[in-house]
Amino acid sequence: MRIQTRYFLVSLGLTLLVLTAGGIHIVRDVGLRVEAHAQSDLHQLAEIGRFVVLGAPVVDDALADDLSAAAHVRVSLVDTDGTLLGDSALDAEGLARADNHGSRPEIAEAFRTGFGINQRASATVHEEFTYVAARVDLAGRKPVVLRCAVPTRSVRLEGAAVNQLVFVGALVAIFLALAVSASAAASMTRVVRSLTVTADRMASGDLSVRSGLTGDGELAGLGQALDKLASELSSAMEAIRAEKDLLSGLLEGMQEGVLVTDREGRLQLLNRALREMLLIGSDTVGRPISEAVNNAEIVPLLADARRKGSSVAELDLPGLKPRHVLAHASRLLPSRGGEVAVFFDVTEVRRLENLRRDFVANVSHELRTPVTAVRSAAETLRSAVENDPKSALRFIDIIERNASRLQACIDDLLFLSRIEAKQFNFALRHLAPASVAAPVLLLLRERAERRGVRIVLDAPYMHPPVWCDAHALEQIFTNLVENAIKYCPDSTVTLRTTLVNGRTLIEVADTGPGISAAQLPRIFERFYRVDSSRSRDPSGTGLGLAIVKHLVEGLGGHISVDSELGKGTVFHLDLPAVPAAGSLPPGVS
Ligand code: ADP
Repeated sequence: MRIQTRYFLVSLGLTLLVLTAGGIHIVRDVGLRVEAHAQSDLHQLAEIGRFVVLGAPVVDDALADDLSAAAHVRVSLVDTDGTLLGDSALDAEGLARADNHGSRPEIAEAFRTGFGINQRASATVHEEFTYVAARVDLAGRKPVVLRCAVPTRSVRLEGAAVNQLVFVGALVAIFLALAVSASAAASMTRVVRSLTVTADRMASGDLSVRSGLTGDGELAGLGQALDKLASELSSAMEAIRAEKDLLSGLLEGMQEGVLVTDREGRLQLLNRALREMLLIGSDTVGRPISEAVNNAEIVPLLADARRKGSSVAELDLPGLKPRHVLAHASRLLPSRGGEVAVFFDVTEVRRLENLRRDFVANVSHELRTPVTAVRSAAETLRSAVENDPKSALRFIDIIERNASRLQACIDDLLFLSRIEAKQFNFALRHLAPASVAAPVLLLLRERAERRGVRIVLDAPYMHPPVWCDAHALEQIFTNLVENAIKYCPDSTVTLRTTLVNGRTLIEVADTGPGISAAQLPRIFERFYRVDSSRSRDPSGTGLGLAIVKHLVEGLGGHISVDSELGKGTVFHLDLPAVPAAGSLPPGVS
């Protein structure tokens, strides 16, 4: 039932109860008071009438009629023996037929005590009357009784009129009370309804809404309490949101992969780094870990952490970019349950470790051959000096050749390490590739001719210059053209520039034997040599292309290679056209 209806019914019930109880009391009280009042009036009239009778020369029916006309009540005069001397309600005939009134209770009492009162039905006029009788002691004669009477009906009618007034008043009071209580209930309901709407909106998440109630009533107090609750909740939510944003920002920005499972082994959190490592989307959150993650090693790792508290493993994650990760998994607080695992990408670390290992092995291998050659040549030289001085020169040659190979190898290694350590200071400026290439090619031309290699320079000066260091570019051209001379005898080597989208690209192309697709990706590695039996050059150190690559990248450029077996090889150089932002002091171009 609505609060307004309930409030209205309660008010109606209370009003009816109060008015009914009050009404009964008033009706009863009014009846008694009207009767008492009528008797008192009759008493006063009888007293006044007594004096009139005392002064009257005769006591007869005419006197009774006169008194009745003056007082508007029925007046009777009764003799000591009960004879009715006069009665305003009877004519002469009725009076003659009237019975003895001496036994009437009020008359008998008046003769006895001087005053009598009674209420009963009149035997004379057959109607209920209220009688008041007073004895009149006439001088020198027997006393008579003067009786005044009014019909009880008229007295009651007067009471009923008062009661009717009370009833109408009560009806008006009920109506007014109900109108007031209905309007009070409506206004209270309006406030309660607005509070309910406010609370509903707050519950559905809109914490900006306020009840706006003021004052110190109970409902206003409730509204203010709701407002306070909403503003405190809103600040608490704001703080939680900020903390959550910070945490998720932190997790999303981390380079390390992070995943969290709940106590049922369902995926609860997965950050961006791990999504990329595992090639899965965030829609996997909520799924069992074995379904969500397509990696057979992660599930046992987490199970191990659940059993032992923590667990560490190195995993290989296949995907677009295969990675090697070091995973640490540990149990979360027992109260929460579940596990957390952090994945560190150690691909680069392991690659560098392998590189260092290979490098040491390669350096040792590369140096061992010339050192062994030098040692055995020196030993042989010792005996040749004694036995065959002429052949000694041959061994000195061997020692010299291997010593210069050692020298070349060590020089290349030092050069490479200088570039890597960024100790190679580039003097960057705009250069036309042809201006650097021409002297390099001139120096190499004789060696090229000895190997039957034709050198072509096709780098028009109208092509825009590149932003580069002259010595570095010289070194790059030397290494690339020397390689073509070494590995592509009887071929043509072309150093050309092309214009692509307004930029100058450099190419060093040969028509030599080419490099197989399997070996092509590795030729920039240190000490890597293509098929040693076919193309190994004793003067090569296996570091030439590694130096080229490091130089190009140090200049901010990019190098790539295309090759086809039997057709030749093309190296593409993409060097910057303009300085990189911030690489120049202001005003220098
Ligand atoms: P190296 O000092 O031995 O020449 P590089 O790093 O310069 O070492 O070259 C790596 C390998 O790449 C060489 O051993 C060679 O087999 C191969 N190579 C380089 N340039 C060419 C080319 N133009 N044509 C065919 N093979 C080449």
